[in-house]
Amino acid sequence: MGRPPNPNAKVPTVVNAGFVIGDDGVAVVDTLFTFDAKGNPGNESNKDLLTEIRKLTKLPIRYVINTHHHPDHTGGNGIFAAAGAVVVAQHNVRGWIQSENLKLLGNNITAETKAFIEALVPPTVGYDHALDLYLGARKIQVRSFPGHTGGDSVVLIPDSRMRRQFVSNQTSSLCVCIPYPFDLSGCQVWSSN
Ligand SMILES: [Zn+2]
Repeated sequence: MGRPPNPNAKVPTVVNAGFVIGDDGVAVVDTLFTFDAKGNPGNESNKDLLTEIRKLTKLPIRYVINTHHHPDHTGGNGIFAAAGAVVVAQHNVRGWIQSENLKLLGNNITAETKAFIEALVPPTVGYDHALDLYLGARKIQVRSFPGHTGGDSVVLIPDSRMRRQFVSNQTSSLCVCIPYPFDLSGCQVWSSN
């Protein structure tokens, strides 16, 4: 949000998502949702993301990592869970994915959006402060830096040439490449404003 839409995007979304290919599988960082012509949330963007991943690799999709519980980061969990992924997030996400999202959307929520939120697939693996996942030899570091929601995660891939960091802040979700190693305390500045 706050940036112009990518003109090359086939389906506009309000945030970004990404994926990491390892030796024996794939990890997806955040899942999206797309509004249809009637303004109802759906999963066209996630189907496109899955298609793009499949163009690059036939390896299994082992993990989804949700950087927080908001629906623009969890909307397609079900698509990837159905493809075999285990959904992982800081432990608050599981408890908040329905209750807090319904609160966030308020009393004027449409029946279709309410049904979409109630059907969001919650994480089945939670962690408190730090979690390391492996795709073969490739390590993925998931670290909790609460600020935007209290259930936020930063994702780092230490063996990549440019380290990809997925982080959320108050107004938007960022996916930025930064030099590594770096001082994670900088994330607290982003997540606390
Ligand atoms: Zn958010």
